Amino acid sequence: MGRFDQERREMIGVLKEKGITDERVVQAMANVERHVFVNEPFVNRSYEDTALPIEKSQTISQPYTVAFMTQELDPQPGAKILEIGTGSGYQAAILAEMGCRVFTIERHMELLLEARKLFERLGYRVATRGGDGTVGWSEFAPYDGIIVTAAAPEVPDALVKQLSEGGRLVIPVGDLDSQSLRVMTKLEDRLEIKEVRGFKFVPLIGKQGWNGK
Ligand code: SAH
Repeated sequence: MGRFDQERREMIGVLKEKGITDERVVQAMANVERHVFVNEPFVNRSYEDTALPIEKSQTISQPYTVAFMTQELDPQPGAKILEIGTGSGYQAAILAEMGCRVFTIERHMELLLEARKLFERLGYRVATRGGDGTVGWSEFAPYDGIIVTAAAPEVPDALVKQLSEGGRLVIPVGDLDSQSLRVMTKLEDRLEIKEVRGFKFVPLIGKQGWNGK
């Protein structure tokens, strides 16, 4: 038995209590070892339902947030998914574990390189790119799903454009202190939009994001 197996099982219990019902999401969260994506001195806290610091003043998202966003994205096995904000690589690993073809963009090269090493070590085939994800990744568009894991001031047009018909965009939108999670489904002639309040992400910085360094 692994050192954190019991704690990971307890985390799954917490996620279910909080309303994560999608079995495929639960299974992926149970299979992927979050502690591998966390650095000292926080490794012991890997299975608390909380965001934790990573390099470059960024965070690995809270497990509930990862599970909820994934559940809302509702990716089918084999779906082509674009993630903006690789960070630790944990969210991308969850999607890869669910059988998605994952493309992920990170603006901090140092974080991207670490995540890339982890994907390799864990055997996940994830396509990675350094740079500003607010412009998307047009070469591989359209995507069945796009997930933005940093807080945007507005929805970047490029991301809506790069969605396939029936595709879904999950993105936190709001001010820097708190955001609503927007779930947008691209239909033939319109966008269907649902919003869930009460999330807090690090800022999305870029051409169609916040200014920053
Ligand atoms: N999905 C990550 C969450 C990391 S936090 C995880 O599971 O750990 C969000 C990340 O978005 C940060 O690493 C930040 O550097 C990155 N980011 C912010 N703005 C970005 C942009 N315009 N393009 C790509 N990455 C961005």
